[in-house]
Amino acid sequence: AYVVTEPCIKCKYTDCVEVCPVNCFYEGANFLVIHPDECIDCGACEPVCPTKAIFPESDLPAEYGEYKALNAKFATQW
Ligand code: SF4
Repeated sequence: AYVVTEPCIKCKYTDCVEVCPVNCFYEGANFLVIHPDECIDCGACEPVCPTKAIFPESDLPAEYGEYKALNAKFATQW
């Protein structure tokens, strides 16, 4: 699955939501998150993110390691 990270915080753009074919973006505390079980790894959201906040889980920068769990937590809280 893809993971949304720190640069998304307080970002006002929703280009990622618009291109996602399976609508797996959800509202987190102050950033968007991707539901890990619903993401189909299509990669469409990564290049359209204006803050470069989206990474494939397999290529998640070490400093954003905690975001994998944060995406899962906020995407499944409903
Ligand atoms: Fe949606 Fe594709 Fe991004 Fe996964 S990789 S969140 S399915 S746009």
